[in-house]
Order: sequence, then C-alpha cells, then structure tokens
Amino acid sequence: MSIPTDLVNRYPWLPSLKVQYSEIADKQPSEFITDIFSRSNTKQISERVRLIFESAFNNLEDIPNPKGENLSIQVYLLLKILTYALNNKMITNRIANLYSKDAYSKMERDNSESDLYNICLDLDLEVKFYDPPIKYGNKMIKDHREKLETNFTIYYIDYLKLASNLRDDYRKLVHNSLQNGFVYIQNRNLMRLIQEYVRNKILTEETEDKASLKSFLDKAFKIQEFKELYDHILSIWAKKEDDFDFTFKFDITSKTDILKLFPPCVLEILKKAKEGQNLVHHERLFIVWFLLALDYPVEKVVDVFATLPDFDRDKTNYQVEYAKKKKYVPYQCSTLQSINLCMKEKYKDELCQDGYGSKELTERKKLKHPLSYIRIKQYRDEKLEEYLKNKAKREREDSQKQNE
Ligand code: SF4
Repeated sequence: MSIPTDLVNRYPWLPSLKVQYSEIADKQPSEFITDIFSRSNTKQISERVRLIFESAFNNLEDIPNPKGENLSIQVYLLLKILTYALNNKMITNRIANLYSKDAYSKMERDNSESDLYNICLDLDLEVKFYDPPIKYGNKMIKDHREKLETNFTIYYIDYLKLASNLRDDYRKLVHNSLQNGFVYIQNRNLMRLIQEYVRNKILTEETEDKASLKSFLDKAFKIQEFKELYDHILSIWAKKEDDFDFTFKFDITSKTDILKLFPPCVLEILKKAKEGQNLVHHERLFIVWFLLALDYPVEKVVDVFATLPDFDRDKTNYQVEYAKKKKYVPYQCSTLQSINLCMKEKYKDELCQDGYGSKELTERKKLKHPLSYIRIKQYRDEKLEEYLKNKAKREREDSQKQNE
C-alpha cells in the first residue's frame, strides 16, 4: 500500500522514501553530495544541517524554526551521511536524540490520527485503528475516575520490538491493557514508540572500516561546500566537547575537581549519559540520589538527563524535586553489586577493590558506600597536598641552610 507523498516529505525516515524518491535515495553517498551541492538551494540545506548540529551540541530539545522543513528529505539524507563521515558515537547519539525528538514534536503538532495510522502502516506495524476511539478502562487521577480511550491498538510483538529500549516502567507489557494479542495504546505513546524507531534509524555504530571511510572522505572532500560544512561541525564540536566533560562540573570543596573524586559506578553512569545512551531505571535513581546527597542543585541534576533519548524536562524536574523532598539515600555498594552497577572491576579501582585503612591487605576495611569513596579520596588528596607542601618547605629550608 502506498502512503501519501506529502507524508514522506514531512517524515523522510519512512521506508516509502526509497520507493517514492528512489532517484534520490538510491544514489551513492558521494553522488548524492555532488548533486545536493550543485543545487540552487544548497545554502539553505547547509544552514538547516548546521542548525541541527548546533542545536544538538547545545543540548536543545527541539530543532528551532520548524518552518524550514521543506528540505527535509535532503536534510535527512545529508545528516545520515555526515554522522557516518564524522564517525563519532557521541555526535551520532546527540543527532539521533534530537532528530527523533523533533519527529515526535512534528507528529504531535500535526495531531492527525490518519497520518499516524499511515506512518504505522509504512513502518509495517500491525495496528488497528478505531474511529471513534474505543474505551478500554479507567484510570484514577487523585480522587476522580477518568475513562481511558484510544484510536489505536498495536500487536504485542511490534509493541515489544519498539519499546524494548525504553526503560520506563509504565511501558512494560504487564502495565498495559492487552486483548487478543493487541495492546491498547494512547496516541502519544504510539508517537513515542515511533520516535524510538527514528532514533534507531539515525544511530550507526562507529565504523571500524577506516579504509572505506577514508576513501569516502577523499571523494566527498573534493566538493568544497561539503568539506566546509564538515569542518564547521568539527570546529563547533571541538569547542563544545570540553563542556560535555560533564556540563555539571561543580565543586563541593572549591579547590578540587569533584569528578576526580567520583567512584567508578558513578563515572560509568555519567559517561553513558554524556554519550546520550539510555539509562536503566536503577541507574537513573542512583545518580539522582547520589548527586542530591552531595547537594547538587536540582537543575544541574536534571541537566544530566538532557542528552537521553526520552528526556522530558518537566517530568524529570518533577521527579528530581520529589526525590530531593524525600531525601532518598543512594544505594550502598552491596546493592549496586547485586544489580550489576558496581564498576570496580571494569575501572580496576584500587580503593574499591582493596579497601582502605592499612598497608596490610588483610587488615583493610572494605568500602561500603559510594559516598564514603568521595570522603576517603578527599581525605587522601588533602593528606597528599599537605605532604607535598611540607616536603617543598623542607627542601627550601635545606637549600637555605646549605647556602648559609
Ligand atoms: S565498590 Fe562501591 S563505590 Fe566502588 S564501584 Fe563498586 S559500588 Fe561503586
């Protein structure tokens, strides 16, 4: 079944792009680049692509100027080529997250059940469409009962395929109404699943095949405009990359970089967040409680999640505020070990592996809590600093004596 061409123009990640625009989609990347940069609207395409990269690097949650969508097919294909060419997992994750969030916003703005249905058909999802919507249960909100209704049900296998990387509890199959193998799904939740599909379409693994990449770049760089665009993106990334060494660099001691004091289990979660990877439920809880325990400001804790694929600022802000009010205590080491979040082996961390207290391994105390890690590291750093100061002082005094 073919879907309206207008839908492909708006949502170029749809499989029908290959059918309806085969003359563009089937081109070799270097041919496509040559073609795109010999058009009269080259400048507009480059500007749109730059804007998307800049927005992703600035952690925006939407691509500004939604009116610039008339070039969406060229922009989408160029984005895919550039993420391949740049071959940087962090950049690709950021682009995939932003572009897919934008796809969600677009579907929400369009607010068309028939378009949503056509999108599902094109993605080969087995969905049933109900007009008028069907009722399938009730939900208690505070003390009033709200009827649940939807236009869609989706076959549970397709639901699971799309939701498998989404970590929220409420997406689990057991928390959703199911009948005859079909899951009742609210329109917004269906859009969210499609957002995840779009994100996966952009995501490409960093290529190991450096020779092919080099040969592609050699050809592509002959086109001056492409080379300029590529260089521009790399230059803004180079300026931003340092900021991403955790945007939330803060100090509790004012003289020490707190990141150097963080235990491996925390560094690992921050690294994943920095790369825009999804975090499992326990990772999210732990990092929030841990940072709040160190008096991180709420907005900084929220920023940690800004790069995640399913980030929703209002929702995250509410959850972090709630956790702060409740004063939850971060998991201790034994709990983190039992849920596979302890990273002492991976990071080969001496304090985590061997404990602390005495030179004799048999007499050493075991580390019990990630917050203790910071305290001990801080203590050791202070002692080291004191030792170095005293040593320098002694050396100065000795040399003065020798000169007398
Ligand atoms: S030993 Fe504790 S502090 Fe160290 S990585 Fe494991 S859980 Fe984290």
